[in-house]
Amino acid sequence: MAAGDYYETLGIPRNADEKEIKKAYRNLARKFHPDVCKEPGAEEKFKQINEAYSVLSDSQKRAQYDHMGHDTFTSASKGSYTGGGGYHGGGFSADFSGFGDIFDFFGGGFGGQRYSGPREGSDLLMKMQVTLEEAVFGADREIEVTHTEACPACNGTGSETKKLINCPHCGGSGQVRQMSQTIFGQFVRASTCSDCGGRGKIPEKRCPDCRGSGHTQVRRKVTVHIPAGIDSGMRLRMEGYGEAGDYGAPNGDLFIEAYVKSHPRFTRRGDNLETEVEITPAQAVVGSIVEIETIEKHKVDLTIPAGVQHATALKIQGEGVRRRGKSGDLLVRVKISVPKQPKPEVRDLYERILELEGSRVSDTKKGFFSGLRGKK
Ligand SMILES: [Zn+2]
Ligand SMILES: [Zn+2]
Repeated sequence: MAAGDYYETLGIPRNADEKEIKKAYRNLARKFHPDVCKEPGAEEKFKQINEAYSVLSDSQKRAQYDHMGHDTFTSASKGSYTGGGGYHGGGFSADFSGFGDIFDFFGGGFGGQRYSGPREGSDLLMKMQVTLEEAVFGADREIEVTHTEACPACNGTGSETKKLINCPHCGGSGQVRQMSQTIFGQFVRASTCSDCGGRGKIPEKRCPDCRGSGHTQVRRKVTVHIPAGIDSGMRLRMEGYGEAGDYGAPNGDLFIEAYVKSHPRFTRRGDNLETEVEITPAQAVVGSIVEIETIEKHKVDLTIPAGVQHATALKIQGEGVRRRGKSGDLLVRVKISVPKQPKPEVRDLYERILELEGSRVSDTKKGFFSGLRGKK
């Protein structure tokens, strides 16, 4: 296939954005679709358009393409496809994922089936509870994953002979097309081939171990690195740990969504941690030094300034959540706690304070209940 530069094929500038690429592709694909265009060379042109689109619409592939240049990229990707084993589609020409788009555009649609050829494995999503300590410091955790892998008996081909043959029902295209005549004109209805499930290939002789699926379910222990600073809802991606793909297609990925458990003493606020300390009214008035245990179990002396107000947050720098080498702070919220049963000497001193303030002393100074009785 003598395909030129992908940008030229689609007739777009090198800095075209996603929308421009899609628009150019749709216009060209409509024009050169083999069912629509009867010009000689239309099918070839259609393949080139699809090849260009399959690369430029995928940001990762596009970046590689831009970086490597057309010739290096196309030969490299062809190598990796055929090297993948058994799948001799050759480059991107067998990737007709573009069909779905066109038929959607015509108002047809494939009923969700947009793909022909070997299918990539599905992604898996797992939820994982992590402690606040793990979220603050990071950790390695071993988890068990149940997923499918290539059947060892047939190397993932699904065939006892390890050979795949073209599906006789669809001739290897993975799709069955039907023309129908309506008052609006001729319509093409395409549906996924039921014999090969859209793959275009079927096992030569069904593998008895996996019944032709090429996959087997296994339970594996996987070590997950939890990065410091992870928060609830964040997802870690473990490439290739999802479900097995069709023979010759990549595995899906495993996504692990973190859920950070609440902690009895510390609450997380972004990269800061918050905790509480109880002090007496005297400590609040005069100022004091209290000992705070950080999440790392360090003992830190915290100075309570004289005249501190209830619910003020005092900062201990660098004892919060660590993320990308930076640390948040520990905020200590001051809670002024009134002693309920002070020692008589302490109570006498408070009475003295009342006198100095010029406050009136209530009858309840003999105790709350005697005060109630006194009112009668
Ligand atoms: Zn088929
Ligand atoms: Zn097998």
